Amino acid sequence: IQKMLGPGYEVKASLGHVADLPERELGVDVARDFAPTYEVTKDKKAVVEELRRAAQGKRLLIATDPDRAGEAIGWHVARLLERDPKEPLRVEFHEITPKVVRQAVERPRPIDQNLVDAQQARRVLDRLVGYNLSPLLSLEFRKRALSAGRVQSVALRLVVEREQAIEAFQREEYWTLEGLFEVQGKTFPALLHEVDGQRLWIAQGEKEGKLHLETEAQALALAERVQTLPYRVAQVEVRERRKSPPPPFTTSTLQQAASSRLGYTASRTMRIAQRLYEGVDLPEGTVGLITYMRTDSVRVSPEAVALAREAIGEMYGPAYLPEAPRVYRNRKEGVQDAHEAIRPTDPRRTPEGVRPYLSEEEYRLYDLIWRRFLASQMKDALYEQTVILLEGQGQPRFTFRAAGSVLRFEGYLKVWGREGEDEEEAPPVPAVPQGAEARLLQARPEQHFTEPPPRYTDATLVKTMEELGIGRPSTYAPTLETLEKRGYVERKGRTLLPTPLGRQIVHYLKERFPRVVAYEFTAQMEEGLDQVEEGKVPWPQVVWEFYEPFLKELSQVPKKTCPQCGRPLELKVSRFGQFLGCTGYPECTYTEPLERKKEAEPIGEACPQCGRPLVRKEGRYGSFIACSGYPECDYTRDDGTPTGYTCPKCGSRVL
Ligand SMILES: [Zn+2]
Ligand SMILES: [Zn+2]
Ligand SMILES: [Zn+2]
Repeated sequence: IQKMLGPGYEVKASLGHVADLPERELGVDVARDFAPTYEVTKDKKAVVEELRRAAQGKRLLIATDPDRAGEAIGWHVARLLERDPKEPLRVEFHEITPKVVRQAVERPRPIDQNLVDAQQARRVLDRLVGYNLSPLLSLEFRKRALSAGRVQSVALRLVVEREQAIEAFQREEYWTLEGLFEVQGKTFPALLHEVDGQRLWIAQGEKEGKLHLETEAQALALAERVQTLPYRVAQVEVRERRKSPPPPFTTSTLQQAASSRLGYTASRTMRIAQRLYEGVDLPEGTVGLITYMRTDSVRVSPEAVALAREAIGEMYGPAYLPEAPRVYRNRKEGVQDAHEAIRPTDPRRTPEGVRPYLSEEEYRLYDLIWRRFLASQMKDALYEQTVILLEGQGQPRFTFRAAGSVLRFEGYLKVWGREGEDEEEAPPVPAVPQGAEARLLQARPEQHFTEPPPRYTDATLVKTMEELGIGRPSTYAPTLETLEKRGYVERKGRTLLPTPLGRQIVHYLKERFPRVVAYEFTAQMEEGLDQVEEGKVPWPQVVWEFYEPFLKELSQVPKKTCPQCGRPLELKVSRFGQFLGCTGYPECTYTEPLERKKEAEPIGEACPQCGRPLVRKEGRYGSFIACSGYPECDYTRDDGTPTGYTCPKCGSRVL
């Protein structure tokens, strides 16, 4: 930014938050509308001093990130530097490119107090929950440093309940019958679809009223009966299906796509995106390659659309360019929606063109963002779907169905790719005329089982959180990271599974704090924060709507009592850390230690992926070896020494 603005400006960084609630006390005056007490963060005293010195006698412009947290940091800086936040000193931009930054500096505005208040409300809410719940959990589970955040606990509940659903799942057997047909010299397979107009149940949709082939005997008997009949092509239906491109990325959809296509965790994606946003050294200078990465907007500036259309026309030809630009609208259109989707700052900068200046992961994420944005301005993909129904000439009436789907025009898929399009595509079926005779050459029964719901991945958990209205662009990744750091959730490949501690905590919270972990109530709170941001509700009101029921639940939690004297136990802190002690101290000296979390232990070997030391960690299924550079590096392997045997099934080494 300094280079973009040139002489006359001195650019200093606040390096994140400069002030926060005090560390060792509540810092919120509940009786006075939750008035917060802020302190300069311990490690930021020097930064604030430096900012103060640099700004002395000079005009101050604050260009923190364009969201609630950024606005709040800006407000704190203004306050600490004794400037009036109502003066035009706030500069807002969503991309760090010379033109945009210079323009933004010309148009400063006052601090938006509504945004600041929404952030204050979130901070105070989370503090009230953390401050009250953490000691309770430590008392309950006799462990140090347990925490329960508001959004975090609800996300944990999702993971735990999914695991319980998987464990409770009873798989069901079902059979399908595939017939190989010959029509006018062409052979193709078709599945038994209906018997006397009754659909076969193949684990899709409602089971009610459908024919369920449960056993091999049933399937074999049916296979014999269908073979005795002559068949006829009863119906041929050819349909054109259009598929529109997905909208450009928001934070949540970026995290989802990066998880499913690149295998990145939500936090890793955000760290890479941050670097792409803040700037990359290109021969032309340092430029931000993408727009701001914390956004729930799909809006795109007309300038960016024009550049995208230009790039599409040049690179792929006019056939891929729709007549008019595609316009994406947000579900909730804000009054002044300055936010934009995540997109390349200049779509003419191709991934291959900037590749020499990026790390591998930066390149791959930029590539994904670039493709998604270009695709969002391209033409629909066109599929031709053919459905053939073959009917047996006899009783009962057997109907077989063959469905083929052929991509006729790639459209946006040319750039976005066909990964994840499997459901759209099926092998083509031959063109056969309606009424033609058909011969069933053979019928093959096949056994299947219904499958339990899949475990969450970063992609599906973020998606579910967004659908339920839990969390916001700034909170998805930190929430997932916290769950893992606290040892409530573990990763197994790309999937997330709860630890025993995570399950216990959800069980406890559901019993004692049903509202805190209620999906709807949490969504309602997020909604409340949005209303504060829009200036519709004063922030203390939103906090109160949460605090009142929370306080009631809190007061009903039974106290842990001292086994020696019966008085309540409480969480105490000594210079050795937290422990449980009797409130009857000094008359009663009963104490109980709290269990520490196990530390990762180095094994004296370097990570084959990044060279950092490998460590042994305790997981749910025993110990495993992981890279100490996690989460930047996600290398893991089994803990165990090879036995020298190879697995007869897959040829891998046996541990
Ligand atoms: Zn006691
Ligand atoms: Zn590593
Ligand atoms: Zn094996």
